Amino acid sequence: MAGKRNKLGVVGHPIGHSMSPLMHNVAFEELGLDYQYCPYDVGKEGLAEFINECRKDFLGLNVTIPHKIGVIPLLDEISREAELIGAVNTIKFSDEKAAGYNTDGLGCIAALREAGVPVKNRRVLVLGAGGAARAIIFQLLLEGADVSVANRTGRSADNLRKDARERLGKGLHVVEFSNSEVAKALANSDVLINATSAGMSPGVDETIIPAAIIPRSVAVMDIVYNPVQTRLLREAWVKGCRTVNGVGMLVHQGAESLRIWLGVQAPVDVMEEAVLDRLKRI
Ligand code: NAP
Repeated sequence: MAGKRNKLGVVGHPIGHSMSPLMHNVAFEELGLDYQYCPYDVGKEGLAEFINECRKDFLGLNVTIPHKIGVIPLLDEISREAELIGAVNTIKFSDEKAAGYNTDGLGCIAALREAGVPVKNRRVLVLGAGGAARAIIFQLLLEGADVSVANRTGRSADNLRKDARERLGKGLHVVEFSNSEVAKALANSDVLINATSAGMSPGVDETIIPAAIIPRSVAVMDIVYNPVQTRLLREAWVKGCRTVNGVGMLVHQGAESLRIWLGVQAPVDVMEEAVLDRLKRI
C-alpha cells in the first residue's frame, strides 16, 4: 500500500502530448504498486501555488516544458546534476523538503549503454544546445566522454563551453554548424547524438545533417522519439551505422525518476512497449 504521499504526476504547459502518465502508470501496474500518476496543465503564473499544494501530499513530480528552469527557486534543494544543467525534471517531496533532480542526461547514457554504446573515453558529437542537449552534454562530461557540440545558433554552444569550463572544469569542443565542419568532427567521433528537434513530427522529412557525412563506424542516436525512426536514423541505418532511437532515453529518464521516488527498479521493457504502442497509433 502507498503511504500518505501517494500522488505523482507531470506538470507542464501544454501537457496533453506527454507520454509520462502512460509510462509510469503501466510501471505501477506491473510492480503492483498503489500509485496514481496524472498530468497537470499549469501555466507559469500558477506554478508556485501548484508546487506549494504538492508539498502536502505528493510523493513526486516530473517537470516539463516550460517549467524546467522556473521551478528551481521554488524548491529547497537540487542535485549536483540539476545544478550543473540548470534545469529540473524530477521533484521528490517529503515532509521536510522538495528536492529537485535532472534525469534526462542519465536516461540518455542508460539508453546508449543498453544499446551497447559506451561513452567513457569515447568521442561524442552532440548536435544542439537546447535544454535536452545541455543535460546530455553535462552527463557525458561527468561520465568521462570527450565531447564536442555543434549548434545552429553558435552563441548557445559557446555558452555551454563556458559553463562546462566554469562549473565542471571540463573542456567542451565547439564545432561550427556547417556540413563541412561537422563532417570533419565526425571523422574523429565514435558517437553522434542529435539533440535538436529537427526531424520531429510533423517535420518528419527534415534531417539535421546528410547521412553521406556520417562514417559507418559512428553510432547514431536521435533523441527525437516521434517518429521513433527519424529520417536521420533510417539513413544512418541504411549506411550500416548502429542506431539508437529516442524512446530508450524517454523510458530510462522515467525509470531514473521512479528510482528517486520509490527506490525501485523500473520495468523498462513494459514501459517501452507501452510507449511504442502509443506512438504507433498517433
Ligand atoms: P529546445 O530547448 O527548444 O532546443 C532545441 C534545439 O534544437 C536547439 O539547439 C535548436 O537550435 C535546435 N533546432 C531546432 N530546430 C532546428 C533545425 N531545423 N535545424 C537545426 N537546429 C535546430 O528543445 P529541447 O527540450 O532541447 O528538445 C529537443 C528535442 O529533444 C525535442 O524534439 C524533444 O522532443 C526531444 N527530447 C527527447 C527526450 C527523450 O527522452 N527522448 C527528452 C527531452 C527532449 P537553436 O539554438 O539554433 O534554436
